[in-house]
Amino acid sequence: MAHSLISPALNLGLLDPLEVVHAAEQRYRDSVAVGDPLPLNSVEGFVRQVMGWRDYIWHTYWHFGRDFRHANALAAHEAVPDWLTDLDDGAVDAACLSDVLGDLRRDGWVHHIPRLMVLGNYALQRGIDPLAMTDWFHRSFVDGYDWVMVANVVGMSQHADGGLLATKPYAAGGAYIDRMSDYCGGCRYDPRKRLGEDACPYTAGYWAFLERNRGRLAPNQRMRRALQGLDRLKGLEEVVEQERLRGTEAI
Ligand SMILES: Cc1cc2nc3c(=O)[nH]c(=O)nc-3n(C[C@H](O)[C@H](O)[C@H](O)COP(=O)(O)OP(=O)(O)OC[C@H]3O[C@@H](n4cnc5c(N)ncnc54)[C@H](O)[C@@H]3O)c2cc1C
Ligand code: SF4
Repeated sequence: MAHSLISPALNLGLLDPLEVVHAAEQRYRDSVAVGDPLPLNSVEGFVRQVMGWRDYIWHTYWHFGRDFRHANALAAHEAVPDWLTDLDDGAVDAACLSDVLGDLRRDGWVHHIPRLMVLGNYALQRGIDPLAMTDWFHRSFVDGYDWVMVANVVGMSQHADGGLLATKPYAAGGAYIDRMSDYCGGCRYDPRKRLGEDACPYTAGYWAFLERNRGRLAPNQRMRRALQGLDRLKGLEEVVEQERLRGTEAI
């Protein structure tokens, strides 16, 4: 639940990752010594983020090389819309996206899950060009550095590498956002609906995304159940048409 907000200092070289890891370890050992141990899974989780994920992303950046940033396995070519470029939370009705955009405009930072589940998920569903989206993330975030943005955006969030970094696209509908947050109760859209005025753009966008990429995703075993769900979906053609018309208009 907690986020340390140390990524800007780490990326600027003001904090040494190893120093951070040693400090966390020392705090844990001290807490054990006084008989009031910090939860080991919390300490381990934090150390794993800094020493594991951060390093993994650094090495993949160099391992995949210069061409990685140009990967576009899902053939996504939409432009970044103006309201997104301007972080215009007022133009957006969707409670989740509006809140995240507002926080980002105010702080230049939101934590990992909104980056992935709300911002990245939106771009993935709408077929926005992954390189343009990488530039957008880079410009909008205080911790934006090329080495860490490219792998996280192109690979982890947009699946533009076709699965080199992550085994399946991080695409999710409104039900998932509803389960993981408290946004939907106060939203003008309904996460359970995929058709009509109050259809959740993430729910409908999810199905439209799957349909658009059906052929590309079919060989991926981890997408089998999702694609089976698509085959059973009632009103798929209407959903696809509704989302084609919605495009990248502010939701
Ligand atoms: C689309 C997208 C773009 C991202 N862009 C960046 C970026 O430009 N710069 C950046 O530093 N992180 C980026 N991340 C990773 C992650 O979201 C941030 O590192 C984290 O939210 C920073 O907040 P924190 O310091 O509170 O992190 P905590 O949750 O407290 O984690 C501690 C530290 O672990 C490291 N870490 C954790 N996950 C990752 C990861 N996936 N990649 C690299 N380091 C990680 C970071 O150094 C972070 O400061 C991105 C993630 C996504 C999904
Ligand atoms: S209903 Fe859809 S758009 Fe509204 S907050 Fe939930 S997921 Fe976001």
